[in-house]
Parts: sequence; structure tokens; C-alpha cells
Amino acid sequence: MTKIPIAVAEGDGIGPEIMKATLHVLRAAGASLEIHPIEIGEKLYLKGFSTGIDPAMWDTIRNTKAFLKAPITTPQGGGFKSLNVTIRTTLGLYANVRPCISYFPFVDTKHPEMDVVIVRENEEDLYAGIEYRQTPDVCASLKIISRVGSENIIRYAFEYARQMGRKKVTCFSKDNIMKFSDGLFHKVFDEIAKEYADIINEHWIVDIGAAKLADTPEIFDVIVMPNLYGDILSDVAAQIAGSVGLAGSANIGAKGAMFEAIHGSAPRRAGQNVANPSGLLLAAIQMLVHVGQVDVATTIHNAWLRTLEEGIHTYDIYKEGTSKKKVGTDEFAQAVVACLGKKPEKLKPVVYKPKTSLPSHPHIPSTTKRSLIGVDVFIYHKGTLEQFFSRIQHINIGPLRLKMITNRGVRVWPEGQPETVCVEQWRCRFLSDSGNGVSQHDVIQVLHAFDHVQMDVFKSEFLYLMDGKPGYSSAEG
Ligand code: NAD
Repeated sequence: MTKIPIAVAEGDGIGPEIMKATLHVLRAAGASLEIHPIEIGEKLYLKGFSTGIDPAMWDTIRNTKAFLKAPITTPQGGGFKSLNVTIRTTLGLYANVRPCISYFPFVDTKHPEMDVVIVRENEEDLYAGIEYRQTPDVCASLKIISRVGSENIIRYAFEYARQMGRKKVTCFSKDNIMKFSDGLFHKVFDEIAKEYADIINEHWIVDIGAAKLADTPEIFDVIVMPNLYGDILSDVAAQIAGSVGLAGSANIGAKGAMFEAIHGSAPRRAGQNVANPSGLLLAAIQMLVHVGQVDVATTIHNAWLRTLEEGIHTYDIYKEGTSKKKVGTDEFAQAVVACLGKKPEKLKPVVYKPKTSLPSHPHIPSTTKRSLIGVDVFIYHKGTLEQFFSRIQHINIGPLRLKMITNRGVRVWPEGQPETVCVEQWRCRFLSDSGNGVSQHDVIQVLHAFDHVQMDVFKSEFLYLMDGKPGYSSAEG
């Protein structure tokens, strides 16, 4: 079998131990891999690389088919960027796939029937990292959801479901509140779901969806969601399935892929040969499927299930009565190797099929007609509404008229309520009086007018009609 080049980083803390154990199992099972070691993590951060990786390493990652990464330690203190976010966004790894499966009765869980795969969007949402301290006491983060990003992840979820023989894809969003951003995600989900008549689809508002996931996870199959909800709920799902120490994840892009355990570097357990290598091993199994070595992936996964059944457990899942032998990292790996060729007797055996490549769906450029209709001007002002209003009420420039003032998004003029607590962040909305489009020049004149009365403008957001419909939220939500 041709050797597939992969980049391997052993990481920090328990990383080197669980990577050694994982590679031992992969080699013993006959995985045909050419390993290119790379260094990432704490040492690199401390050498002054703010993202935890030497830029010279990018080429190794690019020139290999997959990246198997052990957890790293992020040093305390400011100025360090998340290496994971950097890798995902730099390499365009848009899909994060986390199977969360119960191994009851061999691993304790309240949810014996749980078998859920969370497909999390990996590049957008609040993780775009566009954050501002707008005033001394008000901060804001920008939530970015794009049609292309949503199409990619949602199509990936349906293709994954089809390929893995799963029956249903559920979408979680909060589009009852975030009507534009989460609204777009939900709309794209409904559009793409129509292309997959063989797969059931449904949508849940994320709060009640999360409650159901924690209570009755067996009603879900594949769940697709934007980045932040996926980050939180995939940990919840892994934990209620049995342990975060048992879950692996795949980060998939059009041109690369990274595989890792979902847990961190557990520094307190480092160097003691006690850590459970299962999360990284399951991630490596996903990697083998990704690079086409499905038979080896199937053999290792079944051997691992059999090891769990035989009660050979690391400390984190060891339970008196259920477990038979408490082992360390190396012994666990040896036990998996000893089970190669065996299948589980009670747990469901795994059979991986060769992956078909994702069908290409060129993005169709939007034909939406966009017309500038006004501007929201954000102002830093410490004082009352009356003081604020007296300084800006005359600003009605050209076709633009002051229509509304809000504070933290709540309308305070016209017809504000006395109970509304106002902070130092104000927003004035100007809209075209006639309802006709305005020019950029008109909008800039409004900003000039604020400057003229020495108001402290820190941000403006231009307002558009999209095919005649407002492309901005009203204060009423
Ligand atoms: P953690 O997941 O490293 O550890 C939390 C606890 O879970 C540990 O104390 C340990 O008891 C247990 N645990 C975790 N993995 C285990 C395993 N394989 N076997 C047995 N027990 C295990 O989380 P943390 O303590 O919050 O973070 C430690 C460091 O890891 C931090 O520097 C953090 O930034 C980093 N981190 C890295 C990644 C990554 O590289 N992908 C992810 C999360 C956290």
C-alpha cells in the first residue's frame, strides 16, 4: 500500500504519551503512513511565536494529506492566539466532526442509547475574532455567518449522514432572536435539506435543542450548528456519552484535514503513563478513513471496542464492578494491539466504507438588489438621554432623518420607557425620509454633522434594502 504522508505533532502535557500509544496501535495494525513530525505548542509560544507554530511548519502541513495533532498547552497570560483557531482558519478547515457515542455498560453513562455526531461550523460566527472595546465600559464581538460558510457545513453534514448510513440531520440555531445571522443558517439548511430527500431533516431552537440533547440524546442522529453552539454542545455531548477523554474530532477542509482528541493537554497527568489515549486514537481512526485506509480503520476501531468490553480501562473510565483491570497509557495501547482482528461481542462492530469525495457545488452568485437607505451611527456619550438628544436632534441632513435612538439595542427615542437603563453606548438611526435610496455622500455628511457638534462617533453601519426588504434589525427585534 502506498504510504500516505501525514504531519504529526506530539503536543504538550500528556500529548507525547498518548501520541506514542496511538502511533504504536496504528503501526501494529498496518497503517501505511509516512510520518512528518512537526513541533507546535508551549515551546513555540515561549520562543515568541504568538500562534504556537513556527510559520516554516505550514509547508509540511500543506504538503501532507492530514495532520494528526496531540493537545497542546496554551501558556497563561495575554498575547497568545489559539493555535487551533489559527490552524482551522488558515487551512480553511470548515467542518468539525465529533462523534459522541455511548459504550454502555462498559463505560458508565446515563444515556446508554446515545449515538450522536455533532457537525460544527469551524471558521465563522463569533470565532472570526472581530472584537472591539468600543468604549471604556462596552465591548462588542461581531458574529459573522455567510451563505458560502453555511452551505459548506450544511452540505457536509448531509453528505456525512448519507455516507455513514445515518438517517436524520438536525439543525440548531437561534434564529428567533438573530434573524439575519442564524436566520441565514436556518434558511440555507432548509434549502439544502430539499436536495437530500432520503434523509430526515428538522430544526430546533438551540436552547430547547440543547436541553433535549442533554436529556434524551438518543432522539438525535447528526446535528449541524454554527461554531459557538457547536463548541459548547459537542463537549456536553461527549461528556454525557461517557467522558470527554473518549472523543476524537476531525477538522475537514477542501484542501486539508486535522485530527485530534477533544480534551486538552491535562498537564497534571503528564509523564505518569496514566492518560487515556482513546480520544486521539479515535481521531486517528477518522484520519485513516479520510486518507482511504478504511480496512485498517475498521480493524483498529473494533479492537478498541473489544478492549473496552474486556474491561481493560484507564483510570478515567475505570469503575469497580464493571472494569476488570486498571491500566496505564502504554498498557492500554498494548491491549488494543492484542485485540487487533477481534470484534466486539456486545457493542456494535464498526465497518467503514471508502469515502466518496464531496460533490462540488459551485456557489451561485447572489442577484440580490442592494440599495443604501440610511446609517446607524454609534456614539460614546456619558450622560442622560435628554443631554444627548439636545445635542443631536437637529442633525437631519439631505434626505436622511433621525428616526430612532437606542441604547444597548433598546429604543429610547421616540417613545422610550423610563425603566430602560442607559450605558455609554448610543446608536442613532438615520433613514431616507422618502424611502428612496441615498448616496454614500449623504451618509458621510451625517457623520460630518456629528463631528461638527463634537460627538464621539466610534462606529457606523450603513443600512441597505435587499430586494426592497430591510437588511437590518429593528429595535423591536
Ligand atoms: P484538559 O482536557 O487538559 O484536562 C481536564 C481534566 O480532564 C484533566 O485534569 C484530567 O483529569 C482529565 N483528562 C483530560 N484528558 C484526559 C485523558 N486523555 N486521559 C485521562 N484524563 C484526562 O483541560 P484543561 O485542564 O482545561 O486544559 C489544560 C491545557 O490544555 C490548557 O493549557 C488548555 O489551553 C489546553 N487545551 C488544549 C486543547 C487542544 O490542544 N486541542 C484543547 C483544550 C484545552
